[in-house]
Amino acid sequence: MPATSVSHDSLRTAEDELAASSTSTTPGERETESIDVADVIQAMMRPWESLAVPRNYLNPQVVDVRDQCLDTVVLSPCPVCDSEFARPTFEIRGLPHHLATCLECGLGRLHPLPSPEELGRFYPNEYYGSPGAKFEPMTEAIVRMVGTVHVQSLSRNLQPGSRILDIGCGRGVLLSSLADRGHEVHGMDVSETAVAGADPRADIRVAPCITEVGYPSDHFDQVILWHVLEHLTNPREVLSEINRILKPGGQVIVAVPNFSSWQARWSGAAWFHLDLPRHLFHFPVSGLRRLLTRTDFTVTREQHFSLRQNPFGWVQSAMNKRSTLPRNALYNLLHNYNDGDNSVTCPWKQRALRAAYFTGMPIAGALSLLSTAARSGASVCLVGQAG
Ligand SMILES: [Zn+2]
Repeated sequence: MPATSVSHDSLRTAEDELAASSTSTTPGERETESIDVADVIQAMMRPWESLAVPRNYLNPQVVDVRDQCLDTVVLSPCPVCDSEFARPTFEIRGLPHHLATCLECGLGRLHPLPSPEELGRFYPNEYYGSPGAKFEPMTEAIVRMVGTVHVQSLSRNLQPGSRILDIGCGRGVLLSSLADRGHEVHGMDVSETAVAGADPRADIRVAPCITEVGYPSDHFDQVILWHVLEHLTNPREVLSEINRILKPGGQVIVAVPNFSSWQARWSGAAWFHLDLPRHLFHFPVSGLRRLLTRTDFTVTREQHFSLRQNPFGWVQSAMNKRSTLPRNALYNLLHNYNDGDNSVTCPWKQRALRAAYFTGMPIAGALSLLSTAARSGASVCLVGQAG
């Protein structure tokens, strides 16, 4: 294990320094050196701290605590309804955060909210994949194809040359397709790593938050928040800022996992789209509608079907319910990276996972269609019009 060897090296270095400091100094220098010895002892202690089991930020275990009748917690005012009371719902193994559900509006909230430094640790480089390709080739091709259909649906009401901003644009897959259709494309993301390999036609800004970029007022025809709002610490401020930078009549397109969906309720702590600890807010569709209204948008469209999100969510959540499988093992396999103990490395088990994936997807597709008909899709997309 690299962490262990580094720690042992550090320990040896500290021992060597201690030995050197006790033999190379003269008695006259001893008083001054005693301070250094204390520093060296402290340095010897540090390696032991780093020997602790590293925290798993990528796929931590999530535990349902709803049946434990834990006390109501008092939080900062809810961004949707201002209530301060929430019920502990899910705990995250090994992390000091848990998910609590607002008693008034049903918004799920990560508590306590992470500091900016902690947030950075929630997104290890593996989360983004290699530049230009996130999944293994076949899955990447399907993702891009679904993305193209998705773009056609997003841009169907826009005039050519419309100015579009994609917040959390990542590798810019969406922006490339929109640029192909003749639009002026802008992107924003929090991480240089995330935007590596993005289309050069897109004007991309990297900043900690959209509120800090300083776009002019009444500037964009459309702003897209595609599975981004749930990652932000300040969703209400962000939507207000988007309203400011949109032209009157401009559209915000917000897609999030639906915390009130059939899939979320059936899966509980095993729900794939919980994506803890990165998802800081978990919106029931009524909560998202209410937040848009509160930030001066008129909701004009509500869509409950997502070929990219919903069927896969059923399959992976069903697998997560089986305690014998590591959490999100199928996603890790298709994502083509090794997440240590959370990955399935045995070849025959990998084949079994793929077989379950291909068998489960048609059933999951049917379930997704039913959920859509019942307006309970696992992810939901709302279109809001700025006043
Ligand atoms: Zn609330």
